[in-house]
Amino acid sequence: MPREFLIPDLYQSEIIKTVKNARQILDPRKKDRTPAVLDLGPVRFLIPRHFGFCYGVENAIDIAYRTVEEHPGKNIYLLSEMIHNPTVNKDLEARGVRFLFDTDGTERIPIASLSPDDIVIVPAFGTTLEIQQKLEKQGINPYQYDTTCPFVIKVWKRGEQLGARGYSLVIHGKYQHEETRATFSHSSQKAPCVVVLNPEEAHILADILLEKRPLTDFDKYFGMKCTGGFDPVEDMKRIGVINQTTMLASETREVMRILKEAVAEKHRRQSSLRSDQQSDLQSDLESGLQSGRPGDQQSGQQSGQPDDQQNNQPSVEMHFADTADTLCYATNENQSATYGLMEERADMALVVGGYNSSNTMHLVELLEERFPTYHIRDASEIKSRTEIHHFNQWNRQVERTRNWMPKAAEPVTIALTSGASCPDALVDEVLLKVASYFEGCRPVDEALQPFREEGVTTSHSVTARK
Ligand code: SF4
Repeated sequence: MPREFLIPDLYQSEIIKTVKNARQILDPRKKDRTPAVLDLGPVRFLIPRHFGFCYGVENAIDIAYRTVEEHPGKNIYLLSEMIHNPTVNKDLEARGVRFLFDTDGTERIPIASLSPDDIVIVPAFGTTLEIQQKLEKQGINPYQYDTTCPFVIKVWKRGEQLGARGYSLVIHGKYQHEETRATFSHSSQKAPCVVVLNPEEAHILADILLEKRPLTDFDKYFGMKCTGGFDPVEDMKRIGVINQTTMLASETREVMRILKEAVAEKHRRQSSLRSDQQSDLQSDLESGLQSGRPGDQQSGQQSGQPDDQQNNQPSVEMHFADTADTLCYATNENQSATYGLMEERADMALVVGGYNSSNTMHLVELLEERFPTYHIRDASEIKSRTEIHHFNQWNRQVERTRNWMPKAAEPVTIALTSGASCPDALVDEVLLKVASYFEGCRPVDEALQPFREEGVTTSHSVTARK
């Protein structure tokens, strides 16, 4: 039985929940990634197969709200935003919870000012060992109200295992992100670590490894995001890759491919160099034998023969840990459902989620390839039928766009989704606000009827019925 979490009513949704429940009943294993269609007449919404609150977020919300409820009158702190959703964080603040750090790690309230009676909730991203130690110094147990997602802990364990096997770690993630800072902190106890953001940075690291770039480029690009004393020559001899759980899956594969190829190339070069040296030595020895020079008896049994040459086996795995990525299930399912959305015809896409939410930004990045896409925090960003405020992750600005509503002939089709930290209730609000701009929409309750009776309406079944 999946674990049931206590999610406050204010995050519960009527519309999205009905659609999700119907899909869940018909396709519990999520084999069909076709979006559902909520058809209001002049406007239709494509609802992806998977999106919204994930296990880790529900777990964090459950623990945080329970803690607040069970400890009236106590000082309750969150290390930083519990999840990257402003509505959830604001609501917790309204209930008296205070944040010790900003998202970027800037201290708001000194940990040194806390007392052993205070409660500190660790967010879903986890935290660093340094902060854990500081809390312990104040007499606070950092594990008592710990909402660290099990999928994040799994990444730390993978890092630990790879470190124990002698691999250095390349962490594919956003260095400033709380989760990556926590992963870096935990992993650096076990192995030298360096963080790469994307395939471009993986190429730079690969070029440094292959001496196509000067070693000084390592300091330039990675000096601020590696463990102290990281030596790109020595420490890159054996590497394994772990990921921030919410990275783009396609980029993750690319980062791993680039680094694996570089390591294989480096290894080939070294094997070939050793082989050349061996041949030179062999010919020297043979000519020595012919000329009767001393020392010739060592000749045939030199120990410098590389293992893979002796066994004729490629030994790239010795140098690059061939492990699966450490993205979490929610990231994989949300991105896969988003690809399902992208196969459909739509006039635009709306993505609801916090402007610092990594997983939301990746969904936006995918949808932008296919549709005009707006990333909005909540319905309040939709100012009118002609004006929307939305986040542009590429220049990190909230922009104002006029005439955002497509001028397509009705029905207008809108792909609608949200990040893993966004309550479905916010998606309901966005859907209703958009629908309010269309004349003659049928009541939502009526549009939901097929989901209650027949099970589900997907884009395929709508097409089939027409
Ligand atoms: S996105 Fe993944 S790792 Fe992050 S909280 Fe959700 S399930 Fe956990």
